[in-house]
Order: sequence, then structure tokens, then C-alpha cells
Amino acid sequence: MTRPERQEQSRLPPCPNPDCRQSHVVLNGSHRGRQRYHCRSCKTYFGETEGTPMYNLKTPAAEVAQALLILM
Ligand SMILES: [Zn+2]
Repeated sequence: MTRPERQEQSRLPPCPNPDCRQSHVVLNGSHRGRQRYHCRSCKTYFGETEGTPMYNLKTPAAEVAQALLILM
């Protein structure tokens, strides 16, 4: 009855923080069906959305607010 649970370990993604030297990722529950992760090394929380355009969104909040004002 000794079954190694390596599958659980291999499913963990690496820490997305480029400054993180020692990636120590743990599961952090799920939010709206998406798995959440937490790096204990650098205290970074991240989810499966990592890697999508939203993750690297660099539009300043002010610019977005202005765009909304124009639409109104
Ligand atoms: Zn990290």
C-alpha cells in the first residue's frame, strides 16, 4: 500500500516570479474553478491565468479610466 504520489508534485507549475531563486510552490485552493498556487519562497500568489495576455497587462489604470470616460 505504498503508492508514491508523484503526480501531485509534477502538476505544480514553477514560480512565475523572476526574482525567486528557490521556487517552493504549493496549492492554494481554487477560485471559480481555477487552481490557485502560492510560492512560499517569495510569498507570490498566482493562478492558471499566468501566461495569458492579462497577466502581462501594462495599461495604466488611468488610461483605462479615461477610455471609459470617453465611452460614456
Ligand atoms: Zn517564488
